Amino acid sequence: MKYQIRLAGDEGRLAREIKVRSGVDLAKCYQCGECTAGCPMTPEMDAGPTKVLRLVQLGMEQELFRLNTPWLCASCETCTSRCPNEIDIALVMDVIRQMARLRGLEPPVREPRVFQDVFLKSVHDYGKLYEPGLIAFYNLKSRHLFKDVGLGPRMLLKGKLPLLPHRSGNLAKLREIMAKAKAHEEELGRKVEERAHGGGGHGHGPEGH
Ligand code: SF4
Ligand code: SF4
Repeated sequence: MKYQIRLAGDEGRLAREIKVRSGVDLAKCYQCGECTAGCPMTPEMDAGPTKVLRLVQLGMEQELFRLNTPWLCASCETCTSRCPNEIDIALVMDVIRQMARLRGLEPPVREPRVFQDVFLKSVHDYGKLYEPGLIAFYNLKSRHLFKDVGLGPRMLLKGKLPLLPHRSGNLAKLREIMAKAKAHEEELGRKVEERAHGGGGHGHGPEGH
């Protein structure tokens, strides 16, 4: 995929937001390509992680959120372990997905987001995964109605899947943790407003590259 570079005037804003949300300073990336060379998902991705980080450095937000790359990232952390500058690229991919959701953007691939939703709902409702519910809702919402449909009954008969959901004994504690995570996210959003969008004195953009 080719890009025409169009700088928006505050190129560092996107990188600052990512730094506030993740603590990762993307100004340290000198585009060596080591991360992309090791990423097992690049054949499926619109662009490798190196290019994703360059779009962030250049503040090219629209082009960034159009890529399927963050949504196909398997969080395997190969890129993170290969980076000579110890940049946590896997975490940045996670944060980019989170930012897309906070902006209300529809991802270019539907399935990973649907999976996230049904997975978290199952954990919220039962304190653990209820696989038959997860499979049913995932197939319904991702519009793959008959995917693996033959496997379910066989697994149920062999006792590999529970028929009914069981609630975790620590459900209240787990919901407390989820509520804290949500509050933390809101707090980060406020910091982004204050620091990333405020600009000035936090130069983590492409300067010097
Ligand atoms: S964490 Fe994501 S971007 Fe990094 S190597 Fe694995 S799949 Fe690729
Ligand atoms: S390995 Fe690190 S320095 Fe090299 S391109 Fe990837 S993020 Fe940038």
